[in-house]
Amino acid sequence: MDGFVFCINLRGGQGSNDKRVHRGAEGNLAWLKSPPLGYQPHHAAWFAATQRLFNQVAAFYFEVIAAHEVVLDLSAKEALTALETLTHATKENPTPVMPLAEIAENVPAMFRRAAIHAALGSAHSFYSHLAKWRKRKEKAQAKGKKWTSRPPVPPRSWNKSATLYAGQWKERHDSSIMLKLWTGTCWSWLRVRITGREVPADAELGSPSLIRRGNEWWLHTPLEKHFSSPPTIKKQVTTSASTKICAVDLNLNEQVAVCTIQAVAGTILATTFIGGGREISGFRKKQLGRIARNRHRTGIIAEGEQDNVDLWRKIRNRDEYLAHLVSARIVQFAKKHQATILVFEHLGNLKPQKGKYSRRGNSKRAFWMKGRILTYAKYKAWNEGIITSRVNPRKTSRECAYCQSLVVRYAQGMPAEGYTPGTPLVLCQACGMRGNADRNASLLIGQRLLAHYQQSTQGKPPTPLATERSVKTEGVVICQEAKSEEGPSILPARHADGNEHGTAHDV
Ligand SMILES: [Zn+2]
Repeated sequence: MDGFVFCINLRGGQGSNDKRVHRGAEGNLAWLKSPPLGYQPHHAAWFAATQRLFNQVAAFYFEVIAAHEVVLDLSAKEALTALETLTHATKENPTPVMPLAEIAENVPAMFRRAAIHAALGSAHSFYSHLAKWRKRKEKAQAKGKKWTSRPPVPPRSWNKSATLYAGQWKERHDSSIMLKLWTGTCWSWLRVRITGREVPADAELGSPSLIRRGNEWWLHTPLEKHFSSPPTIKKQVTTSASTKICAVDLNLNEQVAVCTIQAVAGTILATTFIGGGREISGFRKKQLGRIARNRHRTGIIAEGEQDNVDLWRKIRNRDEYLAHLVSARIVQFAKKHQATILVFEHLGNLKPQKGKYSRRGNSKRAFWMKGRILTYAKYKAWNEGIITSRVNPRKTSRECAYCQSLVVRYAQGMPAEGYTPGTPLVLCQACGMRGNADRNASLLIGQRLLAHYQQSTQGKPPTPLATERSVKTEGVVICQEAKSEEGPSILPARHADGNEHGTAHDV
């Protein structure tokens, strides 16, 4: 069994006049507004008081750990016991060395434990940084080099979100939860309303955390989904003839992604083209042009200050939206054809463009978006039990997927000869293959992955290939707020499933 954790943001409304609460956007957490547990401003003070206390207790335990560094060599469970013995009075342990009661009384056991774990996390991180720093210092001094780097410092202030372990919350339903909060003077139960995304049937709820965002309070609840991790890529492509892979070529032109499904034996089973590139590029260009004109008009931009905030946000939202949409469609396509491996090429470095501001900015953002599509596809795929891998991008646009000869790249209406980078069509003079250049690239990406693993089982040394098993153990935060800004527009996309070899797909 393998764990997978992701978080849902449950939003806290500020008051009964908060529009967002009424709109009932997905994933919201709203405080119950009707008496006797209605939202009142002083409840926000309870959340703040609870967080403050949590950090006070965590900071205290950090000091206890600093005074007893050996604790860090223990397992999490042993460390917890040791720290409690050092700080918590019981009948068997009436006089602990550093009593917690001196800084805070009546701290519930589960609240204390959550704070201890937070302190242990920070301490592990701090001491490992310190150890690395010392090692580097020693090395430098041994070589007689001057050493000026400052040592890491322990946290000066604590601003962690309070995690509420079992015992600090109860009666969790689809629409409400009871939280045990520190009011500043005592512990009190408060019912808060949650209107969240439905919890998937196969997921387990983790401990919620109180999160402050500006003046708002949110509740993050990690969901744990258990599933057996899929077999490794090597195992899948070398031991099962029925394994299918989905190879993806990401582009800067109209076809943002071109995906092909291939069987391990090399058969091509389906192709899809995910468009929208021209539209987003036109949109960005327009906004970047407006930014450039605004800058020209206002003259010098104040340093360290973001200009044209609204325009930048517009661009960002649209990029983000498309990246989520495209990545979701890639994974859907893979799933539909029962592909269990997703393969991309390494994206390499951004090649700076020449030309106007809007053109340079546009290509830069398009490049970033490719990275984001890859990242999102990877976690979405992992959720479906699909492993993601990346292959070397060398010559994926220059070779023929059928005979590996060098190809001719050209555009409609151009003579089919020479090599014009970025053109949509491809012709192989050796075998007569003719078609869409990005589809050819996608086929090559898939073949490269298969060749890598199949070669290595035939006794040849494998070529280096970065294979990621995207084992996610930490949260993927789904933020509803960003989505609600713009209504989703359906982007044009073409399906060309089961396309024959040799058809041109570009308009
Ligand atoms: Zn060929």
